[in-house]
Amino acid sequence: MTRAIVDLDAIGHNTRLLHRAAAGARLMAVVKANGFGHGSVEVARAALASGASWLGVTSLPEAMELRAAGIRAPILMWLFAPDDILETALLSDIDLSVSAVRTLESLARAAGRLGRPAAVHLKADTGLSRGGATADDWPHLLTVAAKLRAAGLITVRGVWSHLANAEHPDDPGLHRQLIAFGHARAEAAAAGFPGPLTHLANSAATLHLPQTRFDLVRPGIAVYGVEPVPGRSFGLRPAMTLESTVILTKRVGPGTGVSYGHDHVVTRETTLALVPAGYADGVPRRVAGRAEVAIHGRRVPIVGRIAMDQVVVDVGDLPVRAGDRVVLFGPGDEGEPTVADWARWAETNPHEILTGVGPRVRRCHRGFSAGSTISTRSPSRPDECAAMTPS
Ligand SMILES: *Cc1c(COP(=O)(O)O)cnc(C)c1O
Repeated sequence: MTRAIVDLDAIGHNTRLLHRAAAGARLMAVVKANGFGHGSVEVARAALASGASWLGVTSLPEAMELRAAGIRAPILMWLFAPDDILETALLSDIDLSVSAVRTLESLARAAGRLGRPAAVHLKADTGLSRGGATADDWPHLLTVAAKLRAAGLITVRGVWSHLANAEHPDDPGLHRQLIAFGHARAEAAAAGFPGPLTHLANSAATLHLPQTRFDLVRPGIAVYGVEPVPGRSFGLRPAMTLESTVILTKRVGPGTGVSYGHDHVVTRETTLALVPAGYADGVPRRVAGRAEVAIHGRRVPIVGRIAMDQVVVDVGDLPVRAGDRVVLFGPGDEGEPTVADWARWAETNPHEILTGVGPRVRRCHRGFSAGSTISTRSPSRPDECAAMTPS
């Protein structure tokens, strides 16, 4: 009933736009968290056909889902514990991010058992204080990497880091991170790793910080069409439309309390419409009292508490009937709210809204190669996507 329509042509458009902006650098489409909720395999295929040559994920299951779908492009994965079973990753040609000697040694043991080297991207912490080796630990990481490379156990394919505040070009922290990255790269070159892929830029940096582009850029949110730099528009096209269906309407009078706790009480005669999308589907509870949806191109408010599976919309005197389409968010072309609106209402970032779209929401892919992906992904439920949405 509640569906996420994913426009793969928008993914293609955004990828091409980012690739052009990267001005010669290669492009890694970041498809972690199920492609920010859009379906990682479908997004990966559309991005790879539109200028991306790498894919980025965090976890092994994410990487393996891409390989299982037959995607052969290089994949970098960056979150795992040093003692995780990494043979699977090596056998599947997954590049691994390494921030610590312990991880390198664990990988080298796995590589020794398999008789093939592990491809690694050495990660420097240049100021984000999440992954990466600190400036103090970086030289030792390089020394051990050089030794393991000489033993044929690893190949160093990349040197990389991640920015803390790429949206703000005047941030002094950004300047400090670029300087720290310069040092890390110089030390890597001196340690015998002069030529691996250098990469730093996320979406915002790719689009407005040319000095961060290096050999490869790693956009995530912009691939999905959300503008990453506050106050600027680069012409990205939002890929996801979250839509549902009115399943019941009723006429009520003043004084009617709506939903749990009766936080909302109707003040005039009106029509309430029930929409089967709740917080389990990605409608955050904390948007109550703020969020709107679009029905027939008109904005109408969600009223009362948001339940796990449903919300109530006050449609006033509009001629809304059960079966009518409800748009929670979309590109915004027809007056509907956007992901950015929802992020503002929920006091979060667009990333959390997109990745919060729940697992029971059917993803319906349109555009680029969508026909084949629908039939291969869910042969048992073909109609849910075929029905609805004039597109
Ligand atoms: C998520 C992520 C990205 C993409 O970031 P966006 O801001 O969504 O473009 C890039 N690099 C790393 C390491 C990430 O974790």
